[in-house]
Amino acid sequence: TSRIFTTDASSKKQNSVGYKGHSMLAPFTAGWQSADLDPLIIAKSEGSYVYDIHGKKYLDSLAGLWCTALGGNEPRLVSAAVSQLNTLPFYHSFWNFTTKPSLDLAKELLDMFTANKMTKAFFTNSGSEANDTQVKLVWYYNNALGRPEKKKNYRKKHIYFQVIFHRYHGSTLVSASLSGIPGMHQKFDLPAPFMLYTDCPHYWRYHLPGESEEEFSTRLAKNLEDLIIKEGPETIGAFIAEPLMGAGGVIPPPATYFEKVQAVVKKYDILFIADEVICAFGRLGTMFGCDKYNIKPDLVSFAKALSSAYVPIGAVLMSQEVSDVIYSQSNKIGIFAHGFTYSGHPVSCAVAIEALKIYKERNIPEHVDRVASRFQDGLKAFSSSPIVGEIRGTGLILATEFTENKSPNEPFPPEWGVGEYFAAECQKHGMIVRVAGDAIMMCPPLIISPEEIDELISIYGKALKATEERVDELKTQ
Ligand code: PMP
Repeated sequence: TSRIFTTDASSKKQNSVGYKGHSMLAPFTAGWQSADLDPLIIAKSEGSYVYDIHGKKYLDSLAGLWCTALGGNEPRLVSAAVSQLNTLPFYHSFWNFTTKPSLDLAKELLDMFTANKMTKAFFTNSGSEANDTQVKLVWYYNNALGRPEKKKNYRKKHIYFQVIFHRYHGSTLVSASLSGIPGMHQKFDLPAPFMLYTDCPHYWRYHLPGESEEEFSTRLAKNLEDLIIKEGPETIGAFIAEPLMGAGGVIPPPATYFEKVQAVVKKYDILFIADEVICAFGRLGTMFGCDKYNIKPDLVSFAKALSSAYVPIGAVLMSQEVSDVIYSQSNKIGIFAHGFTYSGHPVSCAVAIEALKIYKERNIPEHVDRVASRFQDGLKAFSSSPIVGEIRGTGLILATEFTENKSPNEPFPPEWGVGEYFAAECQKHGMIVRVAGDAIMMCPPLIISPEEIDELISIYGKALKATEERVDELKTQ
């Protein structure tokens, strides 16, 4: 396992004070990690940097968890929160009560999102809750339309709703089921039975010899259509995809993929859910991922950068077509009996309103577009390294995958811990990256400056050189 790697930085993780074996069950952390290694305790943030409890500074190349878009100390977000806390720290939005920040945020989001005409917003606390809500909305919508079969015949096939998925969509029962990461399913008895899975559109990994990106997309769209026909289109409610797959490996869609997949989905009257939890608000150099790839979704999920992660909030937008059904059928079907205590929390909404203002005023998507080539080209220049299989990304999001011989089919032995070694070297030099096996992912704050990008590239270069030497060493052992 990846426990075998050792460097000064990685074996101790960080030199914290007596928190080894701490009392928190840590998310996405192995028990042995909490028990044997000290956690890296982050105590302060400033712009694109964070500091640990000993004052060591790190360039946060993952923006927290793909989310602190405006960096670590944006005073306007703090003021928005404080001012709302001083006026009305909480009121709910059930039974036609609500608060002004939630109404204002709903209107603002609907105005900003132009890839399709969206007419209603629903608020959650997270991306996972947003995606869970999507599934319930699709059921509710089809029930309201009087076509319960659009959820598969329960008695006949033990499958009562189907969603076709792409990688990471969250951690709750349903959103983890929507995700396609095996480690999230094994041992939790997932996925839930109403899911259906289609091909991962990762060209480098899965294309056939001689197949162009366009041909690859054609083949995947055909496979999707075959699957839909085999299962029965009248039983399939929705298709969910991120514009660019983020936590599943930073996988930009191959050319023409969404054009072809959207055509298939539309043909069979299947709703398209765009999971914009990572891509929205400038990450790809456009305000939304849907703008970049010409996606016209029926439903959209947001979280993370919606508040620049200063407070928890997620949102769902629905198209006129979907909301018209829900509203026009409400006499027949009754109340929309779904919601969270904190749906439309006024403090979260006030911070999100301010974040959206800043994205627009500072033209954050344009800034990303301007600095993206420095980031992308600067890092992709390392593609010739003998241990790099692929470096992929767009805007301010990128992944590096380490493999032997540039081949997706020749991974390094997992016990070498190549990805972990690289991440530890970055950490030693003052930079945090996301490591998943031998894939390294980066998604820095959107406010990152050109000089900070140069620093990021420089640390990456040092870590890569050390990792190349380590691999050479391991090969001769
Ligand atoms: N969707 C996507 C695309 C995500 O990246 C994530 C989180 N990484 C989620 C949903 C889940 O969001 P949360 O962690 O806020 O529940």
